[in-house]
Amino acid sequence: MKGRSLLMIPGPIEFEPEVLRALGAPTTSHVAPNFIETFGNSLELMRTVWMAPTGQPFIISGSGTLAMDLAGANLIQPGDKALVVSTGYFGERYANLLSRYGAQVTIVSAEMGHVVGIDEIETVLKADQYKLLTFTHVDTSTGVRMDPQAIGALGKKYGVLTVLDGVCSVAGEEIRQEEWGLDVVLTASQKAIGVPPGLALLVASQAAMKAFHSRSTPVSNYYGDWSNWLPIMEAYEARKPSYFATPPVNHVAALEVSLEMIAAEGMEARFARHKEFADTFRSAVKGWDMSIVPREESNSANTLTAVYYPEDLDGNDFRMKVVKAGVIIAGGLLKGKPGYFRVGHMGAVNRNDIHATITAIDHALKQCRS
Ligand code: PMP
Repeated sequence: MKGRSLLMIPGPIEFEPEVLRALGAPTTSHVAPNFIETFGNSLELMRTVWMAPTGQPFIISGSGTLAMDLAGANLIQPGDKALVVSTGYFGERYANLLSRYGAQVTIVSAEMGHVVGIDEIETVLKADQYKLLTFTHVDTSTGVRMDPQAIGALGKKYGVLTVLDGVCSVAGEEIRQEEWGLDVVLTASQKAIGVPPGLALLVASQAAMKAFHSRSTPVSNYYGDWSNWLPIMEAYEARKPSYFATPPVNHVAALEVSLEMIAAEGMEARFARHKEFADTFRSAVKGWDMSIVPREESNSANTLTAVYYPEDLDGNDFRMKVVKAGVIIAGGLLKGKPGYFRVGHMGAVNRNDIHATITAIDHALKQCRS
């Protein structure tokens, strides 16, 4: 019998055995020929997964917050105006982060469960000249999903660099970075990319790199400065040894395996699979007569679902019963709001995992109500 539960939180997630094997393989030198090939190939595969054929990929040791930090540190100079479109917890984080680099931040926020309207964003963009706009594609705290295509188009129309926080969306939700005109698409390894926590990943457009090269002040973050990292990414892609800070060798090996698997599945098939699983899970939620946090079905993510606890349930007790039934789900992330739980359904997740999760929740509900 497998001695572990099924991990169905919105990251970290269940990982493919092939990925875990690569992580556990003997560590090589960061300048060994096989590692140089692995790193170079991973950078190239990122362009396929991000759908950004001319973008500049970065693979750096760290978490998703570092990926957010990299975009902020390298693209903001003191006094620049930045617009943060916030749909929850991680939007607030981006506003704080950009202020640290001296940005004048304007934040437009939505109520819990709602998106910020595209018209509202356009009204703000019309009123002032911003250098940067950030938004959370899928807000992991609520499962609300924004429309990146419409925001990319606004960025182009108003000459603003757009940064998509895709920590809970890249490789799960449809993103066509280059076609949609998005300047930075960032993520972390532990979600739909399918590698244990430890990598900050992003692809920057040519326009973003141009903005970086035209800075008049140095980047005030030493570790994150693209001046340090760009030559390293370029060297690995040219299959040459280089060093700035020791790369996470095993994580990059695991990343290559996962990106190969994602590319082999194909992006269209992958988007469709995530949608199918999200639809299956949401149908079960309807059957239980519970409500999801996103107010519109069309704005609810395919990578996770947040569900309000019914009034007759003690949320913690219910969640513990689901865990006892073998499936780990997450609680809410927003404090002081009505209670809810979250289920992640992204990455290596398969149909059996979705059915096992639905069965465990069903079982817990019956136990709570008996
Ligand atoms: N943005 C979003 C949308 C996230 O879901 C998360 C993590 N849950 C982060 C940023 C931060 O990533 P990390 O925890 O890896 O630093």
